[in-house]
Amino acid sequence: MKSEFVSFRRFQMRLRIFVPLILILLLSELSFGEQLILVYPAPKVVNPDIKVVDFGDTPYMSVVDLAKAYSLRTYYRKETGKIVLFFPGEKIKISSTSTFIMFGSKMKHMPQPALIVDKDVFVPVYPFMSLLKELVIPTLQFTISNKGKKYTLEESQDGSIYSKSVSRVSYKEKFLKKKGIVKLTNIQYEEKKNGLSIKINTTKPFKDSDFSTFFRKDNWFYLTIYGGYCDSLTFSKINPTSSIERVEAITSGNSVQISFKLKQQFTSSDIHYDLSMGKILLSLFLPLNKDIRKKIEEAKTTWIVDTIVLDPGHGGKDPGTPGRWSYKHEKDIVLDIALRLGKLLEKRKDLKVVYTRKKDVFIPLWKRTEIANKSGGKLFLSLHVDACKNKSVNGICLYLLSSGKSEDAIRVAEKENSVIQLEGSEDKKKYEGYDDISNILANMVHSINMQDSERFAEIISKNVSKKVPQKNRGVKQANFYVLVGASMPKVLCEFGFNSNRAEARKLNSRKHRQLIAESLYESIIKFKEISDRSVARTN
Ligand SMILES: [Zn+2]
Repeated sequence: MKSEFVSFRRFQMRLRIFVPLILILLLSELSFGEQLILVYPAPKVVNPDIKVVDFGDTPYMSVVDLAKAYSLRTYYRKETGKIVLFFPGEKIKISSTSTFIMFGSKMKHMPQPALIVDKDVFVPVYPFMSLLKELVIPTLQFTISNKGKKYTLEESQDGSIYSKSVSRVSYKEKFLKKKGIVKLTNIQYEEKKNGLSIKINTTKPFKDSDFSTFFRKDNWFYLTIYGGYCDSLTFSKINPTSSIERVEAITSGNSVQISFKLKQQFTSSDIHYDLSMGKILLSLFLPLNKDIRKKIEEAKTTWIVDTIVLDPGHGGKDPGTPGRWSYKHEKDIVLDIALRLGKLLEKRKDLKVVYTRKKDVFIPLWKRTEIANKSGGKLFLSLHVDACKNKSVNGICLYLLSSGKSEDAIRVAEKENSVIQLEGSEDKKKYEGYDDISNILANMVHSINMQDSERFAEIISKNVSKKVPQKNRGVKQANFYVLVGASMPKVLCEFGFNSNRAEARKLNSRKHRQLIAESLYESIIKFKEISDRSVARTN
């Protein structure tokens, strides 16, 4: 009983919050009206008119209209705002302004109180109908239809705050063109360790710009989907999952708003349309817990740049871009640069150098990533030489991993990734599903390292411009397998074009390759200095 008293107090407080809500409606004098349609059991009267009025976020229905529809006997004392509905075998007592409701001798409560509107008692639709279904009519089915009608709320003459009259004004059914409006067919909830995952099935895809979301301070989360509609009943549920108190879905005009009353404090959200699943994916995230925060703190100390992974591309049966005019193949040029660079780095006692290959051997791309990750690499540098049909194209280009691809970046990514064709069937398996889950995961890990990668690329770009007599084509973004898996800041360098005779000649010069190695060495040291300093600051 004590707990009921406590919750009663809470409801009283809610009631007080509720009062200004009605006043706001009065001022705007507008509320889109809907009608409740009884699907089952069939109403006793033809086309009963069960009024639905939205109070704030909550649709309310007329109890008197419901009683008429089912030809129920009622006992209504207008002075006290108490109404009794006599269902066959059950008596329901409703008191206006109270959240409590009696089903026979059982006391139940609703999240919002019953209200008197125009001498009629209104109850919140979903809580009331759910209780009715649970306790009186298990087969009950209903829907709310938007008939395009509008209600005006006016203060009644007696001045009582809950005595408002509802009068219907005609409203042209000017749109409701369902053409081009996409149906949301189903909603599913899944509790996750770090939050809540909500999936909404749709008949057609949405664009990310069709979504708008916001958190309100009182634990309501609102999702508006433009160009969508849904069946309110399918989407409006009480306790669909343990972290949601209830859900309300309202279609109006060309959009649908789904409101989630949350039981926990979520701090952020993410929403996008997943084409492969044909669903809208909404994630609500809980605040990072202490353990995770501790792990991040611990991780910071391991962010000291102490292990450099050098990845000379291609090798063995894979020559990379072929050497013409009796010049070297890509695989030989990049191995030589890697070894020169490694030699410089190995002189430093504070650095460990890891090579994905030190000889002319073929190493599959996944293996390169594995070497990098297993060695605890803090910086990954993949070395390549490009080629192009247009022989005049030349210059050094640096690539970052990105999901946004420019034409040029795709071209390079396709070429570097074509190495997969040369790998055995065992190797090919490693790339299965690359485009979906592993890509998403890789992108998540990547985003953490992206800033560092960008910084590293900028440093290299600057040093190359200063030191290496080659055109600098700048920093671009691409989707390279070899870069996707490596969970550390990473950059892929294309040291010019083997298809350009002048550039191929430069790359065949030992002196030139030494210049490249030196500029990379200086870049790595510079990156290490900046990075280690920032780690020291955050600790
Ligand atoms: Zn290459």
